[in-house]
Amino acid sequence: MTSSLGNLRDLYQQVILERYKKPRHRGKADPVSRYQKGHNPSCGDTIELTLRLNQAGDRIEEVKFEGEGCAIAMASADLMAEALTGRNVDEALQMVQRFQDMMKGGVEFPSEFRKLNVMQGVSQFPVRIKCATLTWHTLKAALEAASSEKLEEFVSNE
Ligand code: ZN
Repeated sequence: MTSSLGNLRDLYQQVILERYKKPRHRGKADPVSRYQKGHNPSCGDTIELTLRLNQAGDRIEEVKFEGEGCAIAMASADLMAEALTGRNVDEALQMVQRFQDMMKGGVEFPSEFRKLNVMQGVSQFPVRIKCATLTWHTLKAALEAASSEKLEEFVSNE
């Protein structure tokens, strides 16, 4: 782990490791409106995302995650949870696209979401991009599911 993070710019590395060690959004949403598991076979990261939506189902009130994996995957989930709390579902889906674009060298997030830009450092390491995008991929699946009926189904980003 240390060796693959060794080349990241210091700030990126610091934020990622800090989030990995002291996540702020680990746990389970209460109550759970959406639940989705995600898996990144290339690294072994797994994530269990739970969302609490408003009554109308168009706004995210709470995002929590559980899971095991590398620092990049876990830090990305924690940063995503923070950025998406209080967002409309449509806005969240646009952010999924934007994050994926950023990891392919696209533009950064505006200052309101600048914390997410620390993940851009990962885009220099193609093998780790799936670690960073796993949580976003899983979120998209959770939001697009009509209900929590797909309870036991994993999404994989392979
Ligand atoms: Zn990973």
